[in-house]
Amino acid sequence: MSDQITYTTTDTKNNSNNIPTDRPYPKLSKATAGYLENEYFKNADLNAGYFCNNCLYFIKDSHCTIVKDSGPDINEKESGIIAPSGVCTLWFPNVETR
Ligand code: SF4
Repeated sequence: MSDQITYTTTDTKNNSNNIPTDRPYPKLSKATAGYLENEYFKNADLNAGYFCNNCLYFIKDSHCTIVKDSGPDINEKESGIIAPSGVCTLWFPNVETR
């Protein structure tokens, strides 16, 4: 999974407020995003609530659009994935999974 983000937009009216789409941007580290995994939630219903699995940015089965897979989380643990049962401060509800 790439460690860069390329933004796209269909908004042509407010170009001065858009993020330039002609270049890739680095993904955030887990620590910067405030990401953590809690093993006690592995068997919870991950289709509701504050879980990566229920986040707009989650890429099934173990990636995120804006946060890197690698590196330590805020508890200095390294899993090498974005876990469905994880969460970070950038969580945003995915209305399609509700
Ligand atoms: S909560 Fe969302 S933005 Fe944060 S790591 Fe999980 S999928 Fe990515």
